[in-house]
Amino acid sequence: MEKAIHSTGFYRAKSKHLQESAKILISEHGGKVPSDIESLTKLSGVGRKTANVVRGHIFKIPSIVVDTHVKRVSKRLGLTQYDEPVKIEFELMKVLPKKYWIRYNQQIISHGREVCKAQNPKCSDCRLKDDCIECVHTP
Ligand code: SF4
Repeated sequence: MEKAIHSTGFYRAKSKHLQESAKILISEHGGKVPSDIESLTKLSGVGRKTANVVRGHIFKIPSIVVDTHVKRVSKRLGLTQYDEPVKIEFELMKVLPKKYWIRYNQQIISHGREVCKAQNPKCSDCRLKDDCIECVHTP
């Protein structure tokens, strides 16, 4: 297991979690990955972020994934003022229409990587600058 996932980093801890999770999946879910958040977050090493990635990407269930990009960009856009991922997740669920949740994750993560970087965001190239409360761009 460690060899197979070596390139992903933290491979020792991850292999342990994978083995633990596999045991839980077999003993409690008939070898299938569940789609509900409660069961997913009981798997070893799985928090709400990972659980919501699985729900959105695998099961296509609308869900908000709060990673570092979603947190930073959502705050800059004024969609949340919180720092705690769970509070951000619930706040975004209130302000964003459900049909856009999965797309919001994908597009904001990509926007955060390419444009709205943590250091020196490219505000002059940003399509969201007119709606951004923290835009550092001077027209
Ligand atoms: S205008 Fe700047 S700070 Fe605002 S979302 Fe765009 S890149 Fe980020």
